[in-house]
Amino acid sequence: SDNDFNYPVSPDKMDWSPHYPQFLKDHPEKRVEVADVGCGYGGLTVSLSAALPDQMILGMEIRDKVVQYVDERIVKLREKETDKYQNISVLKTNAMKYLPNYFYKGQLQKIFFLFPDPHFKKANHKRRIISSTLLSEYAYVLAPGGLAYFISDVEELYLWMYKHFAAHPLFEQIEDQQILLSDPCIPLIINSSEEARKVNRIDGKKWYAVFRRITEPRII
Ligand code: SAM
Repeated sequence: SDNDFNYPVSPDKMDWSPHYPQFLKDHPEKRVEVADVGCGYGGLTVSLSAALPDQMILGMEIRDKVVQYVDERIVKLREKETDKYQNISVLKTNAMKYLPNYFYKGQLQKIFFLFPDPHFKKANHKRRIISSTLLSEYAYVLAPGGLAYFISDVEELYLWMYKHFAAHPLFEQIEDQQILLSDPCIPLIINSSEEARKVNRIDGKKWYAVFRRITEPRII
């Protein structure tokens, strides 16, 4: 069911070879460096494959059926083009609980939060995927210099995520437009996921930001 989780006690106990059989055969020293948290139907994960060909990318999703769908989607893509899509995979997990079970400190170069569930009611805000405590966990798995991307079509949720990142001593916003314009991931966070496409179909608005994991805590 959606509530069964099988997770390693620590990252060294995780066997990634079933997830990336060919890629790890060719690059046995590589690790997952990119996480698409709450990947849904996998639109971003799939498009990151070509955008970041040298990195291992992992979609993380809590719903069984959705994970199965993405898994089959990747299998089919690999069958069609055998030299492609070897660097992406999907994992069923609760990303609010188990990231440190899968990733070492400083392992990730990028972490994505695309259109997370808004949990509008105040009593449910604690279920939001961004909070001060969780940001400390994301900072732990991110390498210094690593990037966190988030986007939403719900302005209130965007402001909530922005506020928490801006208040966290280990994150600093990337405001330099040159950097953002030359980042191939920006167009993908805006348009590649299934949720992004849904928003496009109704001509909805989107808000996004990128924060860098810094080395020395900022004084706030
Ligand atoms: N990012 C995708 C997109 O842009 O199309 C999906 C967005 S959807 C609104 C939010 C997704 O996050 C859902 O598929 C949900 O099951 C997943 N999710 C919610 N909480 C999660 C958690 N704690 N761990 C992993 N996935 C989670």
